[in-house]
Amino acid sequence: MQRPPWAVPDGGFEDACTRCGDCLKACPPAILVASAGGYPAVDFSRGECSFCGDCASACKPRALRRDDVAAAPWRLKAAIGDACLARRGVECRVCGEVCGVAAIRFRPSLGGVAQPLFDAAGCTGCGGCLAPCPAGAIAMKDEVEMSV
Ligand code: SF4
Ligand code: SF4
Ligand code: SF4
Repeated sequence: MQRPPWAVPDGGFEDACTRCGDCLKACPPAILVASAGGYPAVDFSRGECSFCGDCASACKPRALRRDDVAAAPWRLKAAIGDACLARRGVECRVCGEVCGVAAIRFRPSLGGVAQPLFDAAGCTGCGGCLAPCPAGAIAMKDEVEMSV
């Protein structure tokens, strides 16, 4: 389960969050939902995070803290899995077409279909490529956990 952006780390979020639901109401794309237990979570199947910060602004108990507007919202990055159609030899470039920062590009492959090239440094972790993928091949993963 992915906490909302700027959630205080470790156990601090659960300690601070009152489950009031104000962040859910504040989120313009309505990607925040109440998870089991009532804590807010991000559901990328509903859309992408614009990083507007409205959820953090609405959080009176400060379970979401954006004191520094330049603070990273989270450590998420997109991860393209084995179900990717292009990797299975079927033409598809949907993720590359929807990524607003061109963090997924397609490299022509001689005698085959173009293959996705992922730029982790360029990925903002917005989640916008997850829902449009026709194969459900994209997941949002913690970049630190991915590197170990
Ligand atoms: S930053 Fe904005 S779009 Fe992202 S979860 Fe918060 S309110 Fe929603
Ligand atoms: S606004 Fe803050 S306290 Fe209320 S549910 Fe959201 S994260 Fe929890
Ligand atoms: S998560 Fe957002 S920035 Fe990253 S590859 Fe997907 S659409 Fe692009």
